Amino acid sequence: MGLKHRFDYESVTNKLKGTELHYIDNKYAGSLSIALIFPNLYSLGMSNLGFLTVHRLASSLPYVGIERFFPALQQETPLEAPYYSFETGRPLGDFNILMFSFSFEGDFDKIPGIFASLGLPILAKERNKHHPLLIAGGAAIASNPKALSLVFDIIIPGEAETTIIPVIETLNKEGFEKEKIASIKGVWVPSISEQPPELQGVHDVNLQPAYSHIVSPFNSFGGAHMIEVMRGCPRICSFCLARCIYAPPRPVKASVIENWLNEHPNCKDLGLVAPSLFDHPEIEQIFSMLQERNIKIRNSSVKWEKLSSNIISALQKSGITGLTIAPETGSERLRKSMHKPMSEDLFIERVKSLFEHGFEQVKMYFVCCLPEEEDSDADATIDLISRVIKIAPSINSLSATFSVFVPKNHTPWQNEPAPEQYTIKKRIKYLKEGLNKLGAFKANFESPQDVLRQAYLAKVGAELGEEYDKLAKEERANRLFKKGQFSDISF
Ligand code: SF4
Repeated sequence: MGLKHRFDYESVTNKLKGTELHYIDNKYAGSLSIALIFPNLYSLGMSNLGFLTVHRLASSLPYVGIERFFPALQQETPLEAPYYSFETGRPLGDFNILMFSFSFEGDFDKIPGIFASLGLPILAKERNKHHPLLIAGGAAIASNPKALSLVFDIIIPGEAETTIIPVIETLNKEGFEKEKIASIKGVWVPSISEQPPELQGVHDVNLQPAYSHIVSPFNSFGGAHMIEVMRGCPRICSFCLARCIYAPPRPVKASVIENWLNEHPNCKDLGLVAPSLFDHPEIEQIFSMLQERNIKIRNSSVKWEKLSSNIISALQKSGITGLTIAPETGSERLRKSMHKPMSEDLFIERVKSLFEHGFEQVKMYFVCCLPEEEDSDADATIDLISRVIKIAPSINSLSATFSVFVPKNHTPWQNEPAPEQYTIKKRIKYLKEGLNKLGAFKANFESPQDVLRQAYLAKVGAELGEEYDKLAKEERANRLFKKGQFSDISF
């Protein structure tokens, strides 16, 4: 079982490694060994510039050996324990440091399974110097660092570029000197201080933009290189976490992107990463530059109001035939309260122009269960969709995704109550019934269970560590029980 498991794992990792393009030499051996863990799918990890930036920065230190780990390599199939590193198949428990990158709160729930399989106590106070040091960072940590304060030795709510190297250098020179580590701006050592540091964007993105130094064909940009063109967002949508944790907005200058392109002549298509790409002050210039170099543009969603004819034609030349646009809600009243004003007539005009230019698919993104949302607001959303259906070449060229509002720390709506299960189910049913009347319109909704869990994890405090501790202990007990059964049968 053990050998087969390892063989299967290595055959998949070898296949994936063989498809990657690397811009820096991998260094697996060093006096300080780090396993960098992205607790979700390989494809998501390889699409995450935060995760990749930590890997790139740590790799630049001569004494560090760093390897990646993903608990699910393909599709949604989780790996079975025991766990080995992605690069060399080294057992995860052998590393000096386990560094977790949490992008989504839901990934916190991977902790009990991973820790239990390594035999690692969940609670930091129960571990000793023979255990690896545990570090956590990422967007979900910036949003709610307290949730994992009993679990991790070091928590990094701040930006990777200004924290990772000083933390590793201090650990290498002086070991886990808590006071010294805690004095690094943007770093929290929960065992010596109750409060996490204030979030503050201090990295100069023009000195060092984030980019994919490892390019995987399985990333969410279809295997394109990726570069962050703007950190943060100049808008003020009341529900939005991204603009709060990455404040202040920092666009990367077109000239910096040009230099980066000169240094990466193999780049033939490029994913432009930004929470609000089309608010970049030089976006038209960047698009023209990429067009002149025959570089295909990949982007995740567009600001519909910024779809000038230059931008539409640049997107078309990149072979893009579908776009995602986010009106958020059809209700003017709610758009006002979320500080996202929109002229519905202009919206309809822009969507019409997309179809006239030959775009085949338009996906709309909405949020429901917003604070003070009533049935009349949901009716307004259904009305907006019915207006869009009328100008689309066919109903099949449209779709909508509905997420449910979850209050996040740091946002202006952080103190709004999270919608309850009954409200979520009722609202989804109401929307589905209204949309059904419009014909065969495709609409996807988040699962209420996932939303409720996400809302809990976004706000939970240190008690989450106790919850995971209990779960991990049960997990270990179950595993031992199974082993015992197996022995009985064998003898
Ligand atoms: S929702 Fe989009 S546009 Fe609004 S603040 Fe967030 S990133 Fe910016």
